[in-house]
Amino acid sequence: MIVENIPISNDKLSIVKKETKCDPQFNILIDYLNKGWPHHKCQLPNEIKSYWSVKNDLFVVDGVLFKDNLVLIPKKMRNEMLKLIHEGHLGIDRCKRRARQVIFWPGMTRDIEMYVKRCVTCKEHSNSPSKEPLMPIHIPELPWHKVGSDIFEFKNKHFLLLVDYYSNFVEVCKLNDLTSNTVIQRMKEIFSRYGIPSELMTDNGTQFSSREFKNFTKIWGFNHITSSPNYAQSNGKSERAVQTVKKLLKKSILSNSDFNLALLNYRNTPRDGLSSPAQLLMGRTLRCQLPINYDKHCKSLPILKKGDNVITINGKNRNKGIVVGHAIAPRSYIVQSKLGRQYRRNRRHLIKCENDVKSPYDGNIYEDADCNRMNFETPTQEMLTENEKCLKSASPLPQVRQAKKIAKRRIEYN
Ligand SMILES: [Zn+2]
Repeated sequence: MIVENIPISNDKLSIVKKETKCDPQFNILIDYLNKGWPHHKCQLPNEIKSYWSVKNDLFVVDGVLFKDNLVLIPKKMRNEMLKLIHEGHLGIDRCKRRARQVIFWPGMTRDIEMYVKRCVTCKEHSNSPSKEPLMPIHIPELPWHKVGSDIFEFKNKHFLLLVDYYSNFVEVCKLNDLTSNTVIQRMKEIFSRYGIPSELMTDNGTQFSSREFKNFTKIWGFNHITSSPNYAQSNGKSERAVQTVKKLLKKSILSNSDFNLALLNYRNTPRDGLSSPAQLLMGRTLRCQLPINYDKHCKSLPILKKGDNVITINGKNRNKGIVVGHAIAPRSYIVQSKLGRQYRRNRRHLIKCENDVKSPYDGNIYEDADCNRMNFETPTQEMLTENEKCLKSASPLPQVRQAKKIAKRRIEYN
């Protein structure tokens, strides 16, 4: 594992590094990791004893300590981390689950408990020792297959909420008015992002029982199930989600923090021993302020050295070049072309060449001006598609322009 693959934001990583260097405990730990551990726990200095049980899981990479894939947080940064973990004022259990995905220090669980119990904002809003809602007995097998919706009011503003039964992923948007049409518009926008669910559960609110809404369900092709007086609980899922979101809203106002960040953290928090809503719906952890292991499943590409011959991939073009150094951005290199021009390239757009191996590859390799072939390791299909993907995301501007054009045309049609 290399540090580059633990995507801590660059800032955070350099602070962790810096603080690790200054942390006396961590210095002793690193010393033991380099020179070996004593035979007995009692031979350790007191402040290190708490690491004894995990000593075999510890290692240090590039000045940062790890326990398995968790980043060891130096003492000075622990308070700041507690604050980040509790962003959005999630309950103790959720905070613990969040933290355990990413970071570690001995006694972290206890520290989280203390921190959350002391939080004033939370104290003011705990109606009862809150139990997390029970999972429904029937869980749909697919994400965004069965979706619940409800409308709620908060501080004289109205909101539309959608919740996915499978992942518990919540979407919230403000409503400018309470007409059926507005609700339909907002729903269409959300469905354009996640797809049309096959079942939509709502209550009997006028927005949902209107003729327009009925039309909408027919044209867009989904089953609309409304809760009946005999079966009031059928929209319970949405009602619980409304309670959760209202709490997030209240707490973010009270603590003067960003509601959207709170929502992001909620979506990223594993629940009841399951993955997080984001993981269940999108198959990934969304990037947030905490360092997260969202590259855990990505294959890491070997690090390049100064002087390595490479092929740079730029759309369909393949150019020869030589690595002349690291760029400031992570996983980026300065590559010099044969004509002497220097470019910054992401590692994913570079294929390392072996100088002494004849290559069976028969693709189009162009230099800036001429077309000299050169030998290099055959890029796997995986590498190439990965590279194309990255390239696409690396130059968003023409794509944004293209998307705008398409959107405009669509709107004109309607
Ligand atoms: Zn709190």
